[in-house]
Amino acid sequence: MSAPAPLINASGPRPIECSSLVDGQRLGQGAVTERRNPSDTREAVSLAHHAVPADIARAVEAARAAFPRWSRLSPQARADMLDRIGTLIADCRDEMAQLLSREEGKTIPEARAEVAKAGQVFKFYAGEAVRLSGRHGRSLRENIDIDVINEPVGVAALITPWNFPIVIPAWKLAPALAYGNCAILKPSELTSGCAQLLSEIIGAAGLPAGVFQMLLGGGDIGAALVANPGVDLVSFTGSSATGRRIKQSASGGNAQVQLELGGKNPLIVLADAPMDNALDAAIKGAFYSTGQRCTASSRIIIEDGAYDGFVDALITRIRGLKVGHALDPNTQIGPLVSEQQLERVESSLEQAVSDGALLKLKGERLSGPTPGHYYTPALFADDDASSFVNQHEIFGPVASVIRASSLDHAIAIANDTAYGLSAGLFTASHAAIREFRQRSTAGMLMINLQTVGTDYHVPFGGNGSSGFGVREMGSEVSRFFTRSRTVYSAG
Ligand code: NAD
Repeated sequence: MSAPAPLINASGPRPIECSSLVDGQRLGQGAVTERRNPSDTREAVSLAHHAVPADIARAVEAARAAFPRWSRLSPQARADMLDRIGTLIADCRDEMAQLLSREEGKTIPEARAEVAKAGQVFKFYAGEAVRLSGRHGRSLRENIDIDVINEPVGVAALITPWNFPIVIPAWKLAPALAYGNCAILKPSELTSGCAQLLSEIIGAAGLPAGVFQMLLGGGDIGAALVANPGVDLVSFTGSSATGRRIKQSASGGNAQVQLELGGKNPLIVLADAPMDNALDAAIKGAFYSTGQRCTASSRIIIEDGAYDGFVDALITRIRGLKVGHALDPNTQIGPLVSEQQLERVESSLEQAVSDGALLKLKGERLSGPTPGHYYTPALFADDDASSFVNQHEIFGPVASVIRASSLDHAIAIANDTAYGLSAGLFTASHAAIREFRQRSTAGMLMINLQTVGTDYHVPFGGNGSSGFGVREMGSEVSRFFTRSRTVYSAG
């Protein structure tokens, strides 16, 4: 199978045209927005035609019409299509990574890794389509058998953020389709180009019209999609504030909701930890991807005995980080995604300072050879676990260091936020690891590892304000994308 035509020009000089896909047709009546390269704002990367409200009703109707056939298609046929999507993504990896880098500002190695993972996710769920099974049992009564079967639910609305614009849509779309649902993707308005490429690839894999659809636009389109009574499932990844609104509006209907939200992730470094490894994890976990990751290590909690040396070494390493154009192979920290996000980060820094946090390294705008949203990494020191900087998700290249007197104190600080996504611990002590595993309140624990970096074959998700509902990824997500039916048979 050959690559879809637009991919060939994905890294060319002309902006990629993006439009909604409804019932097999590209639509373009709505407002048009232009997206500029965050590494070089002189370059227009994508032009997106937004959906209009009537498109939402049409998409839901088309999905409902396509559902009976798709849900009854053989698992092998569904698996083959998902596998093809995975292969096409792998084949188009370089073009997709270039566009991702130009549209979102991710460095090229990070962009390539994201695209590769998206392909692998489709291949994993191709296997899941055939592995899905039910359960057989006996009734409490004589001569009656019971089968519990897992069936597709219906129409899934998938709403995704800009920070992983290829892999997050993949990790919602692949299981939704594998388990026999029809899917409507509403990607972030900041990364319509990436969504366009993904939709072209899915189209090239031969899915029937109505099974996969896409609506471009902002929060208004997302909100109207979630509120549509024909939607059975809502899977959302984004900020905790938007997640709360979605939960409220979806709870008016019958839709099941799955939310993956923000984080304020702790990385604990005990005095007996291998310091070079811990430093590396702190740097990459806090500042790579420009800190724009839900699992970023934004709180680095260091035991007293190691604190001074670790903070000095951290500052030296941060000063050496290269901030620059995302396509420059030497860049370690790309630009922020937008001017608005940069302003948000700046205002959070001001608020943290006025709240009493000590600025050890001042983040500042950087002017480079190209006009972009560049910002140097910032480091705060603040031992008050309840302070603004230690509670508020900044979503930029900003971290704080916090001094802990013991493991006990460090775990208490780590747990002391509304969030609970990922938590890391660096130590050589098995007893400390055991204690941390039992007492941390996060959904994902990383022992002697960064707080970022997860696998697709196991559950992903957080507690508290970081998530709600069935976890994503792994086979476990079938609990969200299917529902059980219990069949009693006598005779
Ligand atoms: P956001 O909440 O602003 O937007 C996410 C998506 O929701 C976008 O597509 C947006 O258009 C849409 N949207 C906005 N308002 C809506 C509404 N009322 N109804 C329906 N849809 C609506 O988030 P963002 O700025 O794109 O992403 C950053 C956030 O995402 C951070 O908080 C980050 O922690 C979180 N995130 C979480 C995970 C995770 O898996 N836990 C992963 C990545 C990002």
